[in-house]
Amino acid sequence: MSTHTEALLLRPADAHNARLVSNVHPPGWQNPSPATCYNLVVIGAGTAGLVTAAGAAGIGAKVALVEKHLLGGDCLIVGCVPSKAVIRSSRATFDVMEAGHFGVRATAPAQVDFPAVMERMRKLRADLSPHDSAERFAMLGVNVFLGEAHFAGPDTVQVAGQTLRFKRAVIATGARAVQPPIPGLAEAGYLTNETVFSLTQCPARLAVIGGGPIGCELAQAFQRLGSQVSLLHKNAHLLDREDMDAAALVQKAFIREGLTVLLNTKINRVERNGGGKVLCYETHGKEERLVVDEILAGAGRAPNVEGLNLEAAGVQYDPRKGVLVNDCLQTTNPHIYAAGDVCLAWKFTHAADFSARIVIQNALFLGRKKASALTMPWCTYTDPEIAHVGVYEHDARERGVEVDTYVREFKEVGRAILDGEEEGFVKFHVRKGRDEILGATIVARHAGEMISEISVAMAARIGLGKLASVIHPYPTQAEALRQCGDAYNRTRLTPTVKKWMGRWLAWQRS
Ligand SMILES: Cc1cc2nc3c(=O)[nH]c(=O)nc-3n(C[C@H](O)[C@H](O)[C@H](O)COP(=O)(O)OP(=O)(O)OC[C@H]3O[C@@H](n4cnc5c(N)ncnc54)[C@H](O)[C@@H]3O)c2cc1C
Repeated sequence: MSTHTEALLLRPADAHNARLVSNVHPPGWQNPSPATCYNLVVIGAGTAGLVTAAGAAGIGAKVALVEKHLLGGDCLIVGCVPSKAVIRSSRATFDVMEAGHFGVRATAPAQVDFPAVMERMRKLRADLSPHDSAERFAMLGVNVFLGEAHFAGPDTVQVAGQTLRFKRAVIATGARAVQPPIPGLAEAGYLTNETVFSLTQCPARLAVIGGGPIGCELAQAFQRLGSQVSLLHKNAHLLDREDMDAAALVQKAFIREGLTVLLNTKINRVERNGGGKVLCYETHGKEERLVVDEILAGAGRAPNVEGLNLEAAGVQYDPRKGVLVNDCLQTTNPHIYAAGDVCLAWKFTHAADFSARIVIQNALFLGRKKASALTMPWCTYTDPEIAHVGVYEHDARERGVEVDTYVREFKEVGRAILDGEEEGFVKFHVRKGRDEILGATIVARHAGEMISEISVAMAARIGLGKLASVIHPYPTQAEALRQCGDAYNRTRLTPTVKKWMGRWLAWQRS
């Protein structure tokens, strides 16, 4: 049992990981005999592949699902699930440390039991795994094949010595951490999201390479759990794809919590020094050295396009962008589609999920559903979180679209003040001259929970003025959304409207 778990690179080989593996790569699994021809062959059993397979089988399609590693993919095994479990523990630690601000005196300093934090994560991951299990998918009528798939022709896939013929196929092979091209890094050894959740001891000094969402989430979590974290980023500020004001607040929180944030850095090489690893980096023309115990690379994601023999299927791809698809998610082989991280710029689980739904309709029912029609929110789970949907101000400017921006800071919102969470804001971009929300950013402790209200409004074409008339319970932080609506409506009060209202009221007094 433990050998099977370890062979799948899941460490430690404990009961939780064994339970996980028994669901998502059962030892002794026998691949079925292939059907003569499948309606759909799905390659990759991450979110995109699982949603496609379950949805297609549910409407009666004959479906084969091929997975080379563990069903569940990145989200369950080495992505959203373990990271959010660890982040929850790190928030608990922070709350204990900050309790004094709320008049609560902890009798002793917070002690982090790191092995227990990681065990909790492994347990929860195993608890969630039956949903993605080989057995569940077999029960749904899906033929589950464990093994590495590659195309043998435009309508054939091979896996573990068997040939699967298809009418339609879906490539859902996901993405992986980019290996930063830094001399000496591979020799010194480093962690990625694929290995960091196997840790059982907290590194005393941790360098995180990359100030994007994954780097930032994990850097803050490890700092709170006891590492001294140095976050190295090549650009001038963290989370540089986000709204600049939002990213600046997260950066400020990181510095306040004691992370060392090193910006505008270029890492020239990594050396080994006894038990330590030395990052030799350049910043403002000077070379500096940073000694750490572990390095975590979170410097981008690369699509998994290698080894699929895409040439044989006539599927074009780009090593950086992934499988090339049109707006209907169809590849250059009209019988083959792609979904999820392997083809999308949005590398999120919910994007993988909704791209899979598009593929089911377009591949099996001659649908013309378009990815560009999706209203796609996202959230970076730092503390505070940054959640966003639609355009940023700079996007609008680049597209020549004029916007009016409405901001409500949480220091003006009752519930945020009571919660001690005044740092943050809600920002809406509305098309100039029309009550149409084009985009919004929220920075708040639970911004990810609040953004969906704006996504609903955008998807249902509800304007900001209309949001002002939606009653929000008092006191909640979501009142900030309504208050932006009030601010919008105040701008509708033109001098002429004001003049007529004044006259009406004067007449009533007379
Ligand atoms: C640390 C981290 C945290 C994240 N947190 C979040 C979050 O909070 N929210 C969010 O929305 N997103 C998050 N993401 C992103 C999210 O995990 C991905 O967007 C999502 O998993 C993509 O799903 P997918 O199905 O496209 O690919 P994957 O989940 O990568 O699945 C692809 C599957 O294909 C298999 N495969 C590859 N090649 C072959 C082959 N030749 N034959 C057979 N099988 C093959 C792989 O083994 C894998 O199981 C996070 C990612 C990371 C790394």
